[in-house]
This record gives sequence, structure tokens and C-alpha cells, in this order.
Amino acid sequence: MPDLQTVVREIAQEMRERTDRGEVASYIPELARVDPSAFGIAVIDADGEVAAGGDSDTPFSIQSISKVFTLTLALGKAGDRLWRRVGREPSGSPFNSIVQLENERGVPRNPFINAGAIAVTDLILSGHQPREALGEILRFMQFLADDSTITIDKAVAASEQRTGFRNAALANYMKSFGILDNPVAYTLGVYFHHCAIAMSCRQLAMAGRFLAYSGRNPSTGLTVVPPERARRINAIMLTCGHYDGSGEFAYRVGLPGKSGVGGGILAVAPGKASIAVWAPGLDASGNSHLGRIALEMLAKRMGWSIFGS
Ligand code: GLU
Repeated sequence: MPDLQTVVREIAQEMRERTDRGEVASYIPELARVDPSAFGIAVIDADGEVAAGGDSDTPFSIQSISKVFTLTLALGKAGDRLWRRVGREPSGSPFNSIVQLENERGVPRNPFINAGAIAVTDLILSGHQPREALGEILRFMQFLADDSTITIDKAVAASEQRTGFRNAALANYMKSFGILDNPVAYTLGVYFHHCAIAMSCRQLAMAGRFLAYSGRNPSTGLTVVPPERARRINAIMLTCGHYDGSGEFAYRVGLPGKSGVGGGILAVAPGKASIAVWAPGLDASGNSHLGRIALEMLAKRMGWSIFGS
């Protein structure tokens, strides 16, 4: 078995030298200001050993990666009732697409496209004020990462709030079918803010450990979710975690993963490691270009693909 520290160091070095970086997301104006040459990676194995390289301690906007954690919270609250308001099939459509909502009478295809994540956020919000719901999501991230310094980047949230017309359209459309219970402005406010949580690769890999270890945090022994739920969240990450690039990600990397337009990807090698990478340049589907390449190299060299080594 190759030495993980060496592999991670080599990948970080190689990624630093590449010039094919993709395009930084600009539809959220604040994200366009990020340094396109940044690259970070952190891998935490079953013994809690961390292998990190590049900008692994620089916080970035986790954006849609937050949807893994809101899904986890919502399943904890509603269990299988959640699946009445959101499906769990890959969409094959862009992350912000509205087309399938019409076919399915306002029910989004899965919890990771924007419409689905907004429906999940609405469920978490029910019975709370927006501030309380957001506090719950942030505390959950801090608990999982064992780091109370994690915060929300208010400038990113405000930037998206000002320009998120497409998300507002999705939310209003779903509201018209009775999929959302709360005022659209409240649900969107919580959604924009949880997308604007800022975390480093190291913090994100820490937060993802429960998915790699059957629902338990291996360092503390605390159960976050039952093993069956961890397995199912991983399944949804594999099939839906990269929007209309999910098939390509499974084909090339072979691990459950969730990307965000901030350029981060959280990936899970079940029983072996929790992995976070960050490279802000995106490919045509809105997934981190070098992040995906780095994960492909890592999975290959370590023999971690869930489809065989
Ligand atoms: N907050 C972003 C949006 O709603 C998240 C998109 C993403 O990371 O894929 O457009």
C-alpha cells in the first residue's frame, strides 16, 4: 500500500503546477473574487491520521457541500417522511434546473440539486425561526468537525441573496405546489446562509468522517447516524452528488462525493478515509475541475474506488 502522506503531497504538488484550472463561479459575485490558483487537500484515515497538502487550512465557501449535512439533519428530524417532498433519483440536469419540477408536480428529483436542497432546508426550518434553524445547521457542522470556529461568510450569503433570482423562482414554483411549508423568503434566507458556511479542507474532511465509518465518529466513538443511514447518504452522494456530472465522477473516481460551486468536493472512501479537496475553477457542470482530477489520482493510487482496486 503506498504511503498516504507521500501520495497526498505529490498530488498537491502536481495540481499546483497545472494550468488547466476551469472557470471560477461568477454568478455569485462574491465567489468570483477567489484566487483561481488555490488548491487544498485533506485526507483523514480510520486512525484519525491527517494527510494534508496545499491550502488545506484556508476556509472556502462550501456551497452545495452543505447539502450533505442538511440532508443528514432533515433525515434525523423526519426520517422517511422526507421522501414525500423530495426524490432520490439522479437528475441529469444542471444544478439550478427548473425543468423537471414541472414534470414531477413540484417535487425535486433529489436533495442535492438546488430545488431539492431548498425543500430540505424548508423542512429543517419548520417550527423554528430562520435564525434558530441556521444556528442548528452551523452547530451541527461545528460538532462534526470538532471546531467551534467555523462560521458563515456573511458577504457570500448577502451576495447570493442579492442575485439568487433563479433559486427564488425554484422556491416559488415549489411553493405553488405546496412543497414548501414556510414563507419563501425565510426558507431561501436559511438556504443561502448555509451554502455560505466557510470551511477548510481539514475541517470538512473531519466533518465527513461519520459517512466513511458507518455513521460513527471513529475518534470519539459517538454515533451520528445509524449505519444504514450513512450507507444511504453515501448512495445519494454517488448517484446525485455532482449534478449532471455524477456519472462522470463515479466513472473516473468511484467514490461517493458532493461538490460545491465554491470549488470544494467532499468524498468518502467507506471504511478507509474522509477526503476534502478544494480548487475553485469549475468544469462545465459546475464541479471543481482539478478537485475531481486530484480525487481520481488519489482513489487510483490508494486503490480506494468502491468498484474495486
Ligand atoms: N448556493 C449555490 C446556489 O444555490 C449552491 C450551488 C452549488 O454549490 O452547486 O446556486
